[in-house]
Amino acid sequence: MKSVVSGPHATAREKNRILVTGGFGFLGSHVVERLVSDPGRHVHVVDDLSTSPLDHRRYLCEVGDPPNLTYSICTVDSFCRSAEEQDFQEIYHLASVVGPAGVLPHAGRIVQMVVNDTYRLIELALECQAKFLDVSTSEVYGGGQNGFCTEDYPKIVPAKTTVRLEYAVAKLAAETAIVNTCAVSPLKACIVRPFNIAGPRQSGKGGFVLPRFIGQCLRDEPVTVFGCGQQVRAFTHVKDIADGLIRVMEQGESGEAYNLGNPENRITILELARRVIELTGSESEVVFVDPKTIYGPLFAEASDKYPGASRAMNDLGWQPRYDINRIIMDAIDYCRSRNGWGR
Ligand code: UDP
Repeated sequence: MKSVVSGPHATAREKNRILVTGGFGFLGSHVVERLVSDPGRHVHVVDDLSTSPLDHRRYLCEVGDPPNLTYSICTVDSFCRSAEEQDFQEIYHLASVVGPAGVLPHAGRIVQMVVNDTYRLIELALECQAKFLDVSTSEVYGGGQNGFCTEDYPKIVPAKTTVRLEYAVAKLAAETAIVNTCAVSPLKACIVRPFNIAGPRQSGKGGFVLPRFIGQCLRDEPVTVFGCGQQVRAFTHVKDIADGLIRVMEQGESGEAYNLGNPENRITILELARRVIELTGSESEVVFVDPKTIYGPLFAEASDKYPGASRAMNDLGWQPRYDINRIIMDAIDYCRSRNGWGR
């Protein structure tokens, strides 16, 4: 366990104090960037850098090293154990193992990791009367109704036990604990279920498809489409998701879950591969691959999935702005600016 290293700036107790776990991660870094742009907020990041795709010092320089941003490089568990007299008004919980390949080394321990962190933060939220936002996953739907997932449909648990299922079950257990704690205590909390986030700062390391395809195209290597490529996903720009998280925190109804994903951006993975080849101007060709030859026997594919997001759209006025080509282009620009990104 890494020791707590606090950032350089004094805390400003008079401000709206916000805790962001996983704030140096792909999504977290965009949420933090948005939050610190308001000098009336003080943001404290807790991140152990275990799954962060970023060099956090470089990130801090890029966002102008704002005085209203402090951080602790440590686990959620050790932060909560050592935290004395915290007075956060809002807690965004994003820290988590992540990615269909990224979760594999944690097989057998994922439920404990996810649930333990969630309970720690529920306690902290109750102590300081902070509103709590939990970032869950669209995996809890297990594929929904032929891929279509809305908050009202029953969740489906597949017969086969996989590491992907362990991750989904862990997130669902955490959700359940939060919703029921809201029912029996003063806790105010919301849940967000994002669908296939993509865009700048995402790395291919967890297995995520878009940075992998872009990296392959920029190196003119074969583009590895898993299976036959007919699996459906709907990609949403990370900036749209960050905007959605902040809306849910500010306006979401306590005890509710909100899907965040852009149904307009539905695409098959084969079509995505072709689009990336075209938009990078690459010489790459598509190859059809069994993902187990890359990630080993524990790897599992998800069913088709795409969101119904009308709850966030109608109740919170959330409107995703970026179409699929713009997402791909923004991610390409980022990969080009970082040599070797997307591996
Ligand atoms: N995928 C692929 N080639 C890759 C990486 C992923 O064809 O090199 C596929 C993967 O099998 C899945 C889709 O792209 O069907 C989205 O994968 P990702 O890991 O980004 O997200 P998830 O599977 O969790 O939706």
